[in-house]
Amino acid sequence: MNTASKDLSTESCLDLCRYIDASPSPFHAVAESVRRLEAAGFQELSSDEGRPAAGCWYLRSGGALIAWSDAGCEVDAPLRIIGAHTDSPNLRVKPLPDQGALGLHQVGVEVYGGALLNSWLDRDLGVSGRVVVRDGGRRVEHLVRDDRPVARIPQLAIHLDRDVNDKGLLLNPQVHLTTIVGAGLAEPGAFVKTLAALADVDPVDVLAFDAMFHDVVPSCLSGPDREFVSASRLDDLLSCHAGTEALIATAGKESRRGAGQTVPVLALFDHEEVGSVSATGAAGPFLQRTLRRFVNLDERRVNGGLVLSVDGTHATHPNYMERHDGEHRVLLNGGPVLKFNAKERYATDAPGAAEIRQTAEKAGVPLQSFVSRSDMPCGTTIGPATASGTGLRTVDLGVAQLAMHSAREFCGSEDPWLLGRLLEASLAG
Ligand code: ZN
Repeated sequence: MNTASKDLSTESCLDLCRYIDASPSPFHAVAESVRRLEAAGFQELSSDEGRPAAGCWYLRSGGALIAWSDAGCEVDAPLRIIGAHTDSPNLRVKPLPDQGALGLHQVGVEVYGGALLNSWLDRDLGVSGRVVVRDGGRRVEHLVRDDRPVARIPQLAIHLDRDVNDKGLLLNPQVHLTTIVGAGLAEPGAFVKTLAALADVDPVDVLAFDAMFHDVVPSCLSGPDREFVSASRLDDLLSCHAGTEALIATAGKESRRGAGQTVPVLALFDHEEVGSVSATGAAGPFLQRTLRRFVNLDERRVNGGLVLSVDGTHATHPNYMERHDGEHRVLLNGGPVLKFNAKERYATDAPGAAEIRQTAEKAGVPLQSFVSRSDMPCGTTIGPATASGTGLRTVDLGVAQLAMHSAREFCGSEDPWLLGRLLEASLAG
């Protein structure tokens, strides 16, 4: 990578770090994308409105967001959709969380998604989420967050667990993840009081909450030449960031030239880490309903339509080479990765891969290919659900990373910018 590209790539990564740090929960990720879209002239629609004039619009629902720009587009111009997910594995606070012993206030948690549980130990944790509050005759939703180190799950000392380094760490999520959030025995409702203070409301008005913990250490570029990114929630906020910025850049270009041959769409879904089956997940109706109601889905040409399902990919781990297919090494800073799976856990097919290879070639973006070992099960993502829901050709791809689903993940610092260039080139059709 030459110096000019390296500078752009570093700036893009620093912006990614800002995006991730602004987004401790899926609701905050949507809010951060909305903030950026609004700054670029996108306007909000509510789900029950009629079809608006062509323009730059978005619709949000909880941890999900659909945005598009159809200004100057023909009614049958095909859709170019970037999909990604806002949720990451973490620890979610139970509805009646307060407990504790020995003069400590603790809260009970559930594990959300396939979290690497060990990575949540001995880490300073903040709390974030949303609370729904009674406000006169209405219910109002507040986003809340506390980035101070207000919670901790201390690991058992090795003296009391002598075999841990030989036999591995076993954690019972019901017992061993109960989180210390303060000194003093918990009164009933103590945790709600904390959330109410964050929302600046009276605790008696808090009707319900969705709250979760996050690592409070800010994201950063790491390595002697800043060749890596060290951050929480790279899976999949990296793709949410790249998709948001690609849509903004594409919409900006379209308004300059006055007509678009394709309609760029951004679809950020919640609940991918728990299977996508929800009102705001990729297997739910949110995308299709929005595209039907507002973006003329059924009249649009299928030819030229495309969904890019963008999600984190496993880089080959240098300490565990045997866990990866020997002919499909995936390198950090080797460029975005096309993901293949014969059982359709990824939706990429030959025509889709061929198109992306040509787009990447034109944009000067290197590409890699991932496939699982044949004797190991493969993960999945939003690609298959989006492909079956929209009927459009779908390609699964993403940036390579290590430590996927750890509270702190790791990737190359050139790949996010390369992904952004590829997405932009692809949105343009
Ligand atoms: Zn993911």
